Amino acid sequence: MNYSVRSYRSASGQGAGAMVDGFGRRIEYLRISVTDKCNLRCVYCMPEEGLPWLRRAEILTYEEITEVVRVMARKGLRKLRLTGGEPLVRKDLPRLVDQLAAVPGIENIALSTNAVLLAPVARRLRDAGVSRVNISLDSLRPERADTIARRPGTLARVLEGLDAAHAVGFDPIKINVVLMRGENDDEVADFAELSRTRPLHVRFIEVMPTESNLELSASGFLSCDEALARVREVDALEPVQGPPGNGPATYFSFPGAQGTIGVITPMSHNFCDRCNRMRLTADGQLRPCLFGTIQTPLRDALRRGDALEPLIDETLRIKPEKHLLVQGSSEGSGGLIALSQTGG
Ligand code: SAM
Ligand code: SF4
Repeated sequence: MNYSVRSYRSASGQGAGAMVDGFGRRIEYLRISVTDKCNLRCVYCMPEEGLPWLRRAEILTYEEITEVVRVMARKGLRKLRLTGGEPLVRKDLPRLVDQLAAVPGIENIALSTNAVLLAPVARRLRDAGVSRVNISLDSLRPERADTIARRPGTLARVLEGLDAAHAVGFDPIKINVVLMRGENDDEVADFAELSRTRPLHVRFIEVMPTESNLELSASGFLSCDEALARVREVDALEPVQGPPGNGPATYFSFPGAQGTIGVITPMSHNFCDRCNRMRLTADGQLRPCLFGTIQTPLRDALRRGDALEPLIDETLRIKPEKHLLVQGSSEGSGGLIALSQTGG
């Protein structure tokens, strides 16, 4: 259903405590990129040589991030996800979690990570208030995992991080697998099997095109429908509600399985009508969509002590109806080189 700008006005007129965009979507979830840097170079995400990194002074401090969250929480923000780049490469991330957990109105803090650096800080993050984790892992074969991440020893460290995630009680734990024909499509059933005997939620994600992955995202594209068909060759799948979360995944499970199998289909089945989120980049741009060119710089306003509310309201008002991604083209991405720049 499409809502007019008029219905946006009347919806927001219901008072403080609700962020509703011009299409009637309630926004209560913010994905916060705490750094643009990463310790891996996944082939679908970042160029091998890295990116022109932001300078320290360009990146929001933890206090500045917390201030943005405080203002948005007064307007109805309830859920946060820390992402990046790789969020765990930023120094003392648990200190940020301590601050965010203390913001009135914030009910849930989640983390997206490659888990390479997770094991030593998992307990501290859990105690600080992170309850849910998403772990990226694109192959269960050591050599292949290293090749995809372009870093040696990746799989062993991710599995250590996964064990630590279980040990400290993050719940749910989701494994994000980016589907790539010719790279990991023969492992779809192996990944699905992980959900049978462990309370793990394996999510297959369709690769999205950016400037740095145009060839891979076109010739290596594999739809989630095809991945599910391969899983169904192994065993029956039944639709299930899936674990708690804020995302656009649709879930299934094997009969009697402890975990679930989810699919995220940005390319084959657009889910923008259910979008519930905005994004804050490491340098303080508030983005209403992962893709496209619309963003509102909050950093300088923050540093001047200006009110953020009008900027947030305007960003909400211009949130686009849907992304305009097209396979094989970087146009709809708004010139994005890598998803690591906006948090994925
Ligand atoms: N470094 C962390 C990680 O890998 O989980 C957080 C940032 S990463 C950009 C967030 C998510 O975006 C990961 O699950 C990653 O697999 C996914 N991702 C990155 N580039 C992608 C692309 N081009 N298409 C689909 N998913 C992508
Ligand atoms: Fe780093 Fe995550 Fe991008 Fe991989 S997907 S390069 S781990 S930011």
